[in-house]
Amino acid sequence: MTQDQNAALSGIDTSVPHSARMYDYWLGGSSNFEADRELGKAFEQAIPSIKTMARENRRFLGRAVRMMAEEAGIRQFLDIGTGVPAAGDTHSVTQIVAPDSRIVCVDNDPIVHAHTKALTENTADGRTRYVQADMKEPEKLLADPELTGHLDLDRPVGLLLVAVLMLLSDHDRPWAKVSTLLDALPPGSHVAITHPTADFDPQAMAEVVEAAGRGQMTLVPRNKAQVEEFFGGWELVEPGVVPVMGWRPEETPTDPKAAYYWSGVARKKG
Ligand code: SAH
Repeated sequence: MTQDQNAALSGIDTSVPHSARMYDYWLGGSSNFEADRELGKAFEQAIPSIKTMARENRRFLGRAVRMMAEEAGIRQFLDIGTGVPAAGDTHSVTQIVAPDSRIVCVDNDPIVHAHTKALTENTADGRTRYVQADMKEPEKLLADPELTGHLDLDRPVGLLLVAVLMLLSDHDRPWAKVSTLLDALPPGSHVAITHPTADFDPQAMAEVVEAAGRGQMTLVPRNKAQVEEFFGGWELVEPGVVPVMGWRPEETPTDPKAAYYWSGVARKKG
């Protein structure tokens, strides 16, 4: 049976491009379909370095999770917009730096669900749970028994909103949705955010937005002030909101603005 036939049987619509599968395509994975690859390539025409950008975004996620685990002692992670499991994701990073961590992965894509379910079942310690939910409904997400049964929301949580908020239009009130999530977490919690922006190369980003529109995908780049606003009143850790390649890099990049994402990590004061 082909991958497409398989998907059809499990009720996944492969004719509409989806961000998780496009992201997987850019990262070199195999959980993607023709429509995802087509739109993925259209994005690549506008931004030839898009695969590097996807990788840089994942690398930031790794650095942020490590920082939360090692510097802040966080052992509970809520990863919203998880994507298809792959090297360098929250699960694999915590396995190395803090294997006693509990993780709840949230995504609204059924194909991500299928993959993460397999991963969860193969993880003997059961420390990673998966919730299929929409971040546009944060109250519902926070009340999900799978989440509340796995994470103790009275203890600090590392919240990851990495490359997901651009998929919410302003009409979805993304700041209010994030604020609901932040308000539910106790002092000592941290949040990591990355967000694509038109600030570095407006022309390239405009072409990407146009290609996304043709593929019926919402993609809203936001400027630095708008991204900073997502952190609410939380205290930004050094170096603040910076280009994703410049957030505590392992090696200083020659051009930190080569990946068109703003990024940052903030902590809730006690
Ligand atoms: N955070 C990962 C993957 C980013 S791709 C990383 O940076 O490496 C964006 C992911 O967000 C996709 O897997 C997509 O399915 C998911 N997503 C998109 N809209 C969502 C929503 N409203 N609620 C939850 N997840 C969403």
